[in-house]
Amino acid sequence: MDVANLEAAFERITVTDENDDQLVTTTTYHKSKGSLSTAVSLSGLSSSNAAANRMKLPLQKLAAANSSKVVSANITKVTLPAQATQGRPENPSHRRTLTESALYSQPSTPKQWHLGMFEIGKPLGKGKFGRVYLAKERATGFVCALKVLHKSELQQGKVEKQVRREIEIQSHLAHPNILRLFGHFHDAKRIFLILEFAGKGELYKHLRREQRFPEWKAAQYIAQMAAALKYLHRKHVMHRDIKPENILVGIHGEIKISDFGWSVHAPNNRRNTMCGTLDYLPPEMLRGGGKENFYSEKVDLWSLGVLTYEFLVGEAPFEDTQVMTQRKIARGEYTVPNFVSSEAKDLIKRLLVLDPEKRIALEDVERHPWIVKHCKTGERAYDRVSGGRYRSSSERDS
Ligand code: ATP
Ligand code: MG
Repeated sequence: MDVANLEAAFERITVTDENDDQLVTTTTYHKSKGSLSTAVSLSGLSSSNAAANRMKLPLQKLAAANSSKVVSANITKVTLPAQATQGRPENPSHRRTLTESALYSQPSTPKQWHLGMFEIGKPLGKGKFGRVYLAKERATGFVCALKVLHKSELQQGKVEKQVRREIEIQSHLAHPNILRLFGHFHDAKRIFLILEFAGKGELYKHLRREQRFPEWKAAQYIAQMAAALKYLHRKHVMHRDIKPENILVGIHGEIKISDFGWSVHAPNNRRNTMCGTLDYLPPEMLRGGGKENFYSEKVDLWSLGVLTYEFLVGEAPFEDTQVMTQRKIARGEYTVPNFVSSEAKDLIKRLLVLDPEKRIALEDVERHPWIVKHCKTGERAYDRVSGGRYRSSSERDS
């Protein structure tokens, strides 16, 4: 989406702030001991005088429109946060810009957010529990995605704890290949998550559209995944739900891991409470109960293997009926079609290893010949040519 489209996306949209009279009811889950430099909000951005903005949210019943001050949406300037925050995965600190340090190095108080501070744009999508809208912080023009969750639905779905954990974990993460959570707030009925806007949407859709990715593209995506997972694992966070549906694509074509609903800080037993696809489930998660059920961040390595396979083949390696998928996973039974290069096959084979301890380490994924071949060091993720398309070094040189 270019800037002109972005601007268009805001036109004629008005919102009501349920919370306008109370103004600020922000809850922060920030722990003071958290001490992570990444636990930041946009506190440097503005001190908007929010009371001026009475808005009406399109997802709410249109009530008392006359009590709302309609805000005209003649936007003249749009800043894309993504552009400021996207650094190279290998060295996120390296590309810190002035803007970024202004945004993120504010040490102090988390900002007290509320709905009136945002102009709401077009809907970006709908999940099981919420809707996501394009949004813009009025004071600065900072473009983001606002995820709206209804408390009653979270209660009904018994996922309050999961959402709380998602917020807590994601707000402490800052990596170019992980979707940023800038802050959150709530009113009587809803929880709002202020997320980084991923301009190119869901990776899943790109994959379905292209059927499968060429090797250079798959390799660059996997390199970015490895960088993000290395960062997560260093912070003792395992994602545990790596799959194309949970990966978004940024404006420069770089990937952004999202959806930390199943992630955890330390090993614990999730058991078989998942719904959805079994395709990415590692063998150690299939085994029930007992000590052997213990699993570690190595689960993400297995999923990375499944992802590599799916990027290159267009479908997951163990896709079948539920029973058969489980059986195949437990045995590590899969075949790779002939059009996949032997280097790529080799990496898949080293990731899809039944024994978690024997899976290739993330550092070695980054050094693997298949990755090296398609990713020029230091340019891995952002070797971009016009049109946002990536090329491998070999392709470029020819
Ligand atoms: P589930 O509820 O099963 O996790 P989901 O992950 O698709 O589903 P959401 O995270 O609520 O649900 O997102 C809904 C959709 O909105 C996404 O599929 C995506 O298309 C879009 N979306 C979500 N977050 C962003 C974002 N930060 N930038 C751009 N689009 C987004
Ligand atoms: Mg999701």
